Amino acid sequence: MIISKNPYNGEEIEKFEEYTKEQIDKALDTANSTFKTWSKTPFEERSKLMKAAAEELKDNKEEYARDISLEMGKPIKQSIAEIEKCAWVCEYYAENAEKHLADEQIETEAANSYVSYEPLGVVLAVMPWNFPFWQVFRFAAPALMAGNIGVLKHASNVMRSANNIQKVFERAGFPKGCFQNLVIGSKKVEDIIKDKRVKAVTLTGSKPAGSAVAAVAGKKIKKSVLELGGSNALVVFEDANLEEAVKTCVQARYQNTGQSCIAGKRLLLHKNIKDNFLKQFIEEVKSLKSGDPLDEETYIGVLAREDLAEDLEDQVKRSVEQGAEILLGGKRDKAYYEPTVVDNVTKDMPVFKEETFGPAISVTTFEDEKEAVELVNSSSFGLGVSIFTENFDFAKKLVPQFDDGAVFINELVKSDPRLPFGGTKESGYGRELSEHGIREFVNRKTVYFN
Ligand code: NDP
Repeated sequence: MIISKNPYNGEEIEKFEEYTKEQIDKALDTANSTFKTWSKTPFEERSKLMKAAAEELKDNKEEYARDISLEMGKPIKQSIAEIEKCAWVCEYYAENAEKHLADEQIETEAANSYVSYEPLGVVLAVMPWNFPFWQVFRFAAPALMAGNIGVLKHASNVMRSANNIQKVFERAGFPKGCFQNLVIGSKKVEDIIKDKRVKAVTLTGSKPAGSAVAAVAGKKIKKSVLELGGSNALVVFEDANLEEAVKTCVQARYQNTGQSCIAGKRLLLHKNIKDNFLKQFIEEVKSLKSGDPLDEETYIGVLAREDLAEDLEDQVKRSVEQGAEILLGGKRDKAYYEPTVVDNVTKDMPVFKEETFGPAISVTTFEDEKEAVELVNSSSFGLGVSIFTENFDFAKKLVPQFDDGAVFINELVKSDPRLPFGGTKESGYGRELSEHGIREFVNRKTVYFN
């Protein structure tokens, strides 16, 4: 049995009977047979349906958002914004997929030579709970527009949202089987990846989950894309506009109650501005309202599960034992963890070297740009970095020195349907979104006429 529980009050929301072997088999059969027709459906028709999905999301955003907030504690305003962003990615691919996947002519000695982009088939998506809709839509919108079929294994604590996503595609009028939610726990994933009807897999989540899924895919020589954790740095240089940087850094760390792979988790401050910056930063963090996720005024909700709050508490405690100092917060009450600022953090402390998935930020001071770059790159993750400086020439020179998948200047690292998204090192491989994302799950077929 899979159970959705409200992390704010501990109440059970809904119970879901796990799919039997036969139900999984039937779902994969439906997916596979739908591929035969869906892959031949013209872009115009796919586009019409994807636009209808966007409308469905916009028309019922309150309903879908409420279930997100109930299941994983996201403040309702942020849940609504998540649904709106999903509508955006549907519209984006409805308008651009055909262009992204148009034949690409390449001049050779042939009479005609080109690359044609063709769908692969059924793609399994293993998805996390932190953005229960967005993580799925940023996979599903390009995958379906490319002519693929989606089957979802969602996180066990957001199964109602998972069913809701299937409902969005059904209500939009997609053929039955284009997108199905499989009500299963993670133990059933291995067999599904191995199944002949499944051609590829994408996973967003932790490193252990990613590595388990990629190992099975690798053994079966199936394509995989991994979007794993991150420990993005926020680097504030001496010449930064401090007022703006404070606001951006607070949002980068505390939105979604800190549960985002691209959140700014390590604050790196130049020694000359540290005190001034931190004073303003702490004032701003104190002003964030904690409370009931369903209250429109709430900015900090609860963590999605109590064990996740316990993990964060433990990471902070272990860092304090090594010499870190809590400047703000640090207390837990069930799934709630206070917005926390931890100073005097060094590279070997848990809050620096591990991913902290909640509202706690580590603060480390640097002397010069060389040390700043070294601190940023010392992480085993490589999702993104934000740097704050008024000197764009200086910023441009720094960009190639970072290992990460993204560098944002005077802005928090964020996902945008128009820009590629993904990491390096233990943050995973492959890209989502933009033209790069839609080309992950296609056969780039070389065609040559002599
Ligand atoms: P997981 O990585 O365990 O869960 C993500 C998804 O993977 C879920 O659907 C989960 O299913 C599934 N899964 C887990 N283990 C396996 C496996 N061995 N084989 C196949 N599928 C698997 O995340 P947690 O919820 O445990 O969170 C732990 C930490 O992971 C967080 O604290 C954070 O550091 C990181 N994380 C990163 C995210 C990101 O956006 N990059 C998102 C979520 C978490 P099920 O729920 O049934 O276990």
